[in-house]
Amino acid sequence: MKNMQIVIDGPAGAGKSTISKIVANTLGFIYIDTGAMYRAVGLKALLLNLDTKNDVASVERLMDDIKIKIEHKTDGQHIFLDGKDVTSEIRTPKVSIAASNVSAFPAVRKKLASLQRELAQSGNIIMDGRDIGSYVLPNAQIKIFLTASIEDRAKRRHNELIEKGENVSFEDVLADMAYRDKNDSGRKLAPLKIPEGALVIDTTGNTLEQSIDILTDAIKERLNCFLK
Ligand code: C5P
Repeated sequence: MKNMQIVIDGPAGAGKSTISKIVANTLGFIYIDTGAMYRAVGLKALLLNLDTKNDVASVERLMDDIKIKIEHKTDGQHIFLDGKDVTSEIRTPKVSIAASNVSAFPAVRKKLASLQRELAQSGNIIMDGRDIGSYVLPNAQIKIFLTASIEDRAKRRHNELIEKGENVSFEDVLADMAYRDKNDSGRKLAPLKIPEGALVIDTTGNTLEQSIDILTDAIKERLNCFLK
């Protein structure tokens, strides 16, 4: 098996990255988290004090010489922005919003999509995001759309942030989630949508273990069809 592409799309907080990471480890695939790349662009725009919602021209100009690099280490994917490891720095609510804002700008999407297509050549991969099955890798062999109710997704994300010591209220996380859902589904280029041929899995009410089992079984079943 070589250059097998499994793509997992869906809204924020559906458990894509947690589950994809575990399934990738089980299958021996490389896991690529594309959200981290949009977060790196959002972080750079924030560091330069740009208006990430409205200043399309300045944010798009950043894409001319921005350097985004992904490395896979024993503890997972690391992302480098202009040579600096920003893997932890990009995981704040402020960067989430900035990432969602800049992701609507065509020059940002085009550059990151081309980087993602290059990364997809590195072997058997599981790539997660919003537009991977519909736009970045429409010919992927296995496409999954992972979703859950907005309340469930906000609850999960709130717990994660509290565990990391962030002082945020559930209401704020829910509002951020609704904002990002609207932005991600409403943008013109490559919006969040169910890709053609995708298997839709709704994890509402599931424990993490249940979701991992459902996804692993679904992927193995589909992989077996390809290996026959
Ligand atoms: O997946 P994550 O929540 O880290 O993504 C951060 C933001 O990046 C999303 O809210 C979305 O706006 C954007 N994104 C995107 N396309 C992708 C991955 C992420 O637009 N393939």
